[in-house]
Amino acid sequence: MEGDRLFRQVADRTDDTEFYTPVPEGYHIGRTKYVVVFGTVMSGLGKGIFAASLAKLLQDRGLKVAAIKLEGYLNVDSGTLNPYRHGEVFVLDDGMECDMDLGTYERMLDQDLTRDHFGTSGQILRAVLERERRGEYLGRDVQMIPHVTGEVKAKLRNLALKTGAEVVFVEIGGTAGDFENAYYSEAMRQLAYEEGPGNVCFVALTFILEPKILGEQKSKAAQLGIKRLLEMGIQPHIIACRAANPVTDKVREKISIYTNVPVARIFSMHDEPSIYLIPVRLRREHLDRQVVHLLDLVESVNARAEQEAIKVWDAFCEKIRHPKHEVTIAVTGKYTAVRDSYASLIKAVEHAAAALDARANIRWIDTTDVTDENVAEALAGADGVIVPGGFGTRGAEGKIACIRYARERFLPYLGLCYGLQLAVVEFARNVCGLERAHSAEVDADTPHPVIDLLPEQKKVVDFGATMRLGGKDVEVRPNTLAAKLFKGAKTARLRFRHRCEVNPDYVERLERGGMVFSGKVPGKPIMQILELPDHPYFIATQAHPEFTSRPLRPSPFFLGLMAAALGASAVGPFETEQAKV
Ligand code: GLN
Repeated sequence: MEGDRLFRQVADRTDDTEFYTPVPEGYHIGRTKYVVVFGTVMSGLGKGIFAASLAKLLQDRGLKVAAIKLEGYLNVDSGTLNPYRHGEVFVLDDGMECDMDLGTYERMLDQDLTRDHFGTSGQILRAVLERERRGEYLGRDVQMIPHVTGEVKAKLRNLALKTGAEVVFVEIGGTAGDFENAYYSEAMRQLAYEEGPGNVCFVALTFILEPKILGEQKSKAAQLGIKRLLEMGIQPHIIACRAANPVTDKVREKISIYTNVPVARIFSMHDEPSIYLIPVRLRREHLDRQVVHLLDLVESVNARAEQEAIKVWDAFCEKIRHPKHEVTIAVTGKYTAVRDSYASLIKAVEHAAAALDARANIRWIDTTDVTDENVAEALAGADGVIVPGGFGTRGAEGKIACIRYARERFLPYLGLCYGLQLAVVEFARNVCGLERAHSAEVDADTPHPVIDLLPEQKKVVDFGATMRLGGKDVEVRPNTLAAKLFKGAKTARLRFRHRCEVNPDYVERLERGGMVFSGKVPGKPIMQILELPDHPYFIATQAHPEFTSRPLRPSPFFLGLMAAALGASAVGPFETEQAKV
């Protein structure tokens, strides 16, 4: 291909030409299709959800898709970000700590992603600076254009090459017009030019205001936002409008006039009770058909595969829309309007509930003030309890009180990472009689550090990417609840993000008390799953199974909790004497 030859040639000679675009070996310009999603007006509109929904629709049509998120910030990964500020830190199988949108892609597409699917300005600039040190730009002054933008394009092309995707979905973080993201937009403009007409589809996600004082939808902010894209040389092909209510034809027409986008390609993406219903609506409005035509993919779609995929997804959505049962799950987590900090957990609960034809209402319990005295009140009406992952001291004692209550009152319990560690602390104190037992993370002076730093963590000095991270195999002990949940499988692959573990010195003591360790690191005394046999459902894992739960393949831990909670909700909580284990 002519373009391909041109770019490869210029990539090799950088000092006597202005052209520069690194193209990975084996990549053919113009062969991969790209859909690039930009946000306008403001961030947090659900670009990831939109991009993932659209990618799913194309995947359902038999196309091979890959998604990548590009973040503007200078952090190399998301590991050191505060989830209350930026949403949950999602962990990939290869150990990459990344943005929560990667979780949305994994769930919607039922794909395991890798670090190739996540980029930050920190990574991009680091790569450019490393190249410069290696002398790869010899003779040239290294510039934002073309070198940094070249690195962005190289990242996308590398992903296309490695995954063999026919369509690569690119989500640009932040909002069009942000200073920190401007070079991404420029790189996308160049990409469209280089890959050629019909190969790159630009989508603008925007927001339609509906001020209460006016009582009608207003399109001005959307117009101005999209104008920022046009100023950067990016003409959207498709516009998706986020709004509380369906976007009126009048507003769509107005946007069309100002943006050169036909009304048929301006979509309403109003609120839905579940994000899993969004692909269904977008399909009904023919968004996927528009993209297939724009990118000239008509020949590549597989109608039979699509019918099958639609059937399966519609059945799942039907259960979400019309559940037969209802349960309440208490989650100890500070719910400060930042729902995003527990995004995967919320989804994992939803998947498990849907599989059992139920709707699960999550009740957030801020445990800062919870004690043994008032815990019954705090958990009243809950059919199950989850203590999710966490760090630090705040609320730890309240969480321990919740775990004690769940254990003694036979309320179904699921502990996730920190929730396993605190379950060990509770059991050590109240069953094994180890007074003041604690996690060394919370109480450095405890006489019984039943939870302690992993040996390899004691040497760690850097903060970023130094936890025990990513997917690991866990050996499941036969004839346990865990074995039952995993249907007899000998190993389960789970995802981790932690520094502490059950202190091996206390394992025997805990086992004597009746705690069963049903999952370990293969061949090592590192405990990964625990359970209590004399309890309807008390299980905890050092892992984060919420990261690997998928809509049609819920996590067994959550499924078990939901089944037990449904049982509890049907017969009421077990009011018995304290369990003697
Ligand atoms: N703070 C605990 C640890 O580092 C738990 C971590 C978590 O829950 N993700 O081990």
